[in-house]
Amino acid sequence: MLKGYVPPYNATVVQKLLDKGAVLMGKTNLDEFAMGSGSTDGVFGPVKNPWSYSKQYREKRKQKAHGENEDSNWLITGGSSGGSAAAVAAFTCFAALGSDTGGSTRNPAAHCGVVGFKPSYGLVSRHGLIPLVNSMDVPGILTRCVDDAAIVLGMLAGHDPKDSTTIQDPVKPFTLPTFADVNKLCIGIPKEYLAPELSSEVRSFWSKAANLFESEGAKVIEVSLPHTSYSIVCYHVLCTSEVASNMARFDGLEYGHRCDINVSTEAMYAATRREGFNDVVRGRILSGNFFLLKENYENYFIKAQKVRRLIANDFVNVFNSGVDVLLTPTTLSEAVPYLEFIKEDNRTRSAQDDIFTQAVNMAGLPAVSVPVALSNQGLPIGLQFIGRAFCDQQLLKIAKWFE
Ligand code: GLN
Repeated sequence: MLKGYVPPYNATVVQKLLDKGAVLMGKTNLDEFAMGSGSTDGVFGPVKNPWSYSKQYREKRKQKAHGENEDSNWLITGGSSGGSAAAVAAFTCFAALGSDTGGSTRNPAAHCGVVGFKPSYGLVSRHGLIPLVNSMDVPGILTRCVDDAAIVLGMLAGHDPKDSTTIQDPVKPFTLPTFADVNKLCIGIPKEYLAPELSSEVRSFWSKAANLFESEGAKVIEVSLPHTSYSIVCYHVLCTSEVASNMARFDGLEYGHRCDINVSTEAMYAATRREGFNDVVRGRILSGNFFLLKENYENYFIKAQKVRRLIANDFVNVFNSGVDVLLTPTTLSEAVPYLEFIKEDNRTRSAQDDIFTQAVNMAGLPAVSVPVALSNQGLPIGLQFIGRAFCDQQLLKIAKWFE
């Protein structure tokens, strides 16, 4: 839909970087309209994970699948901001921006072995970011270490008159001393995040990380986020509903692509949208319009908003009980080969991959994925820290100590 489209203005985050003297090297690939968890559904083709070409992984694959065409088993980056994660992982840039509506910065960061930071909702301007779900979207930051993420956040954070959801209070500079008082911390481990689909390796790194904090004197406790099991469904009702509304602007008149059909305006709209959107986007528009139908609105959209509040309150309750940060996995497993990823029903897979990340967006909290270790296959695994709203600095401090 937006092929060849040149926006007439810069997003606030881009302008802020340019004003500070940053050099913009290019735009990165992603799933169409940031809908996905694999970066396999982009207009420019799928994004390949640079780790596919690491010596260790190649050797393991050779042992495993003898005779298999070497180039056919490259790994996905995760997504949707997979191009940004790959660019940082491949050392082509200092930092990259992505977006995070349900995990799209943290998920590829975990799969590509980089840091993926989702700021608190309202800390960084969304002006110029193409909306997916306005009430959850935030620009995300991908870097190789937590310090670098803090540097970029320091440049981007703060009020923007062009985004009424940004905070009014002045933002203090982000400086990250190494956390000295780990022994004063209380780390929460949400028991509902022990999903049956979680790979045993991720699970074991998760508990090793908890033990590390404990051995340094932190209090590590099991906590409950009781509405977790509703969160994927709730996210999808809200996401598709907002998508249905947001995508209405792409009608062939205002932006990008326009089809050749000119028998009527209606026919032009329909054909433009059929040609211009992939089936993931079209599917979400259709689902969203279904949830927003007069007869469904109360039962789906309004109900989901209420469930969203319960999910957000789960986090508030845990933080009010004295927990400083939550420690969770970022993804269910390490990156999987492309052919494996597309074998399953892509959309189900995509939804499952957000299991640990999207509740955070519904609650507007800051979260960061930090690489912890390499798996047996030699692939990166990430863990996620979730902080209190607008305690981004404290969150990054803890993540820095841990990395
Ligand atoms: N995977 C989620 C989705 O497809 C999240 C996307 C995102 O964060 N941009 O909705």
